[in-house]
Amino acid sequence: MLELYPHQATCIDELREGIRQGHKRQVLGLATGGGKTVVASHIAVGAVAKSKRVLFIVDRIELVSQAARTFHAMGLRVGILQGEFTSYSPEDDIIVASIQTIAKRSAPDWVQLIIIDECHILHGAHIKLMESWNALPFIGLSATPLRKGLGKYFTNLVRGPSVRELTERGFLVPVNAFAPGADHISAILADVSAGTTTHGYDYTESALGDAMNRKELVGDIVATWKKNGENRPTLCFAVNIAHSKAIAAEFEADGVAVAHIDAYTKRDERKRMIAGFRDGSIKILSSVNVLGIGFDVPDAACLILARPTLSESLHMQQMGRGIRTAPGKNDCIILDHAANTLKHGLPIHFEVPDLDDGKGDERGTRKAKEKPKFIACSECGGVMEPGQFTCPSCGIDRPRRASTVQTVDGELVAFGNRDADERADKLNWYLAMLWTVRNSSNPKDGIAYHLFMAKFKGEKPAWAWKDLTPVQPTPEQARWIRGEQQRRRIAWIKSRAA
Ligand SMILES: [Zn+2]
Repeated sequence: MLELYPHQATCIDELREGIRQGHKRQVLGLATGGGKTVVASHIAVGAVAKSKRVLFIVDRIELVSQAARTFHAMGLRVGILQGEFTSYSPEDDIIVASIQTIAKRSAPDWVQLIIIDECHILHGAHIKLMESWNALPFIGLSATPLRKGLGKYFTNLVRGPSVRELTERGFLVPVNAFAPGADHISAILADVSAGTTTHGYDYTESALGDAMNRKELVGDIVATWKKNGENRPTLCFAVNIAHSKAIAAEFEADGVAVAHIDAYTKRDERKRMIAGFRDGSIKILSSVNVLGIGFDVPDAACLILARPTLSESLHMQQMGRGIRTAPGKNDCIILDHAANTLKHGLPIHFEVPDLDDGKGDERGTRKAKEKPKFIACSECGGVMEPGQFTCPSCGIDRPRRASTVQTVDGELVAFGNRDADERADKLNWYLAMLWTVRNSSNPKDGIAYHLFMAKFKGEKPAWAWKDLTPVQPTPEQARWIRGEQQRRRIAWIKSRAA
């Protein structure tokens, strides 16, 4: 039995406390890398110790054997309730079932605790089961329990540590995200219809496919990967099969080892592709929905987001495919060609909100109208928080006139405002001054400090700027700096003479 980390033990304690307070329907919101399966196993072991039997319900048939293996490895006696593979008895500690099979057959009525995996996808069969077994405790597990109306079925939410905390503690790797051409993509998406889908309010898939499956956009994906992807094992999330195939074809034409995979890919073929991905002979796996297909795709160190989504949940689930730790892996590169990170943020920005009570609007309706919260660096496309002035990817400050950088296909663009422009302009001057001083016979940063104050009427340069890389001045800047140095020399000579 694997030892629990303190945060996992805390989650279990809080769930127990919830039960004591009378909550029979609880959600455990535990981020990717938080150890959901380990926590579930310990809950099951705890129940078994009290002679209780557990029903563990997964969302997809393909996940049954995966979960069963894990519980078996934990020393539990495991039964299976899934189509023709069904085999269980009251002797089993835990029965792993697919919701599809439960929908068709009845579930064993001797279980005393039910765990619903991935409860952000709640099927009618789940709800029916919760209604008919209303005296039994249910625990829903999800990294993103955002489903509209989840609060109607569950009364208590236990939050595990956030992605930010897990990243800081080394359970997850940080990301380095780029959103090239975000302005262009946002403009395209403005015309794409949206509505209720299987994962909530989102773009209509056919309209989205038409909008995104364009030669120039697909070309950008390949160009950006070659520039920023560092030849890493990469998962690509496309809109639909045609889109995924178009992306794969473009990579292939460029000599990159790529495979397109979907729900119709034959079993042997799929196995071969995944083995190739693991051993590195296939660099990129492109798919429509690697999560939905349900096979065990290895995690990647680079993600291509080519499927725009209004669903924060889908966005987070996709990024979760890149942030797990692995030997030799220090970070994950996210190449966002969907403007998703600008809308929903990076993994560390995600916090599990209270359960939705089902009143109010579709979550997504509000979301869809929101302006992008995050900003793409106009130098490198690196994703920045609105308050951030220094790009975490290339170290450059938000450049001047960021807001006037206009849409050019395939070019990196930035959102900005007047204040940011002004500040960026000042930084630009400071870096030019720093460059001039450091390349002079008297390389003292203090001189750049005084030059800056002379230029901006006594305003001091920001403290944090001193650590940035100096930038060669433009001719205009060089002229002003030369002139000012001349004035200062003359003033100094005069003061000596006085
Ligand atoms: Zn940058």
